Amino acid sequence: MILLDGRKTSSDIKDEITLEVAQLKKDGKKTPHLAAVIVGNDGASKTYVGAKVKACNRVGFESTLVELPEETTEETLLAQIEELNNNDDIDGFIVQLPLPKHIDEQKVIMAVNPDKDVDGFHPTNVGKMALNLPTFISATPFGILELLERYKVETSGKHVVVIGRSHIVGSPMSILLSQKRTVGNATVTITHSRTTNLKEITLQADIVVAALGIPEFLTADMVKENVTVIDVGITRVEDNTKKSGYRLLGDVAFDEVSKKSAFITPVPGGVGPMTIAMLLKNTLLACKRSN
Ligand code: NAD
Repeated sequence: MILLDGRKTSSDIKDEITLEVAQLKKDGKKTPHLAAVIVGNDGASKTYVGAKVKACNRVGFESTLVELPEETTEETLLAQIEELNNNDDIDGFIVQLPLPKHIDEQKVIMAVNPDKDVDGFHPTNVGKMALNLPTFISATPFGILELLERYKVETSGKHVVVIGRSHIVGSPMSILLSQKRTVGNATVTITHSRTTNLKEITLQADIVVAALGIPEFLTADMVKENVTVIDVGITRVEDNTKKSGYRLLGDVAFDEVSKKSAFITPVPGGVGPMTIAMLLKNTLLACKRSN
């Protein structure tokens, strides 16, 4: 079994970006600048945004964190987005999801200038991704592609089973892996909560991407020998032995599934760190485009 080490790979990518940023600065070009907007006090969201800002510092980007209170109105948030759209110094920005219930997430996503949408959530960018045109690919599926590529996991002609059909992971993942691209050319089956014979399907998979958010859902009896497993799930479960009071669990029962796997991502340290690295990559791309 080979561990698909997202921590190490993302660190390599950050080193590569650091070099590029240094070169941009040397050439008198603009330093990439990422802004992140967070609304409210959700603990997990704060952790994610904090990690994104820290990653910017590590690679030499500029970063701006916009923290808005829970009771922020949709109108105020949209005005903030407009300001970021019009601020030439900001190359790309993200609005951390989920948003408080009184704010229409779709409206917010639509308000972001597609040229600054480094999360790749705007319909223009999703459409370009689906057509295999150059665009910002959303960071989690992009990170999975990169991990598979760097570990030379063969996808061409393989049967990939994606569990979950969310707009940010399952759906784009299934589209990308079926496309004619370096990491792609796979035969893809997308499954979801209404799939009735899931185990029958996962047992046929050469590669399983688990993105459903149910801890340790994928068990050893659901996969064949030498499977490759990408575990996207991150669920916080209470654990009093930890200083934080919780530990992170993936969607895969790692101990038993890893015994049957050719390649597998751990949680934590797999897909999660890759997501941040690819956000940086998208921001660098946005900056180069505006340069
Ligand atoms: P979501 O809640 O939006 O969607 C879950 C999907 O799973 C749905 O499409 C649903 O149909 C499917 N599903 C639910 N129960 C199922 C079942 N029993 N069998 C088959 N399919 C089932 O989830 P999401 O936003 O895609 O996130 C999924 C997980 O990935 C969560 O744990 C989330 O925290 C994590 N996540 C991690 C990263 C990362 O960077 N590592 C990024 C995004 C999401």
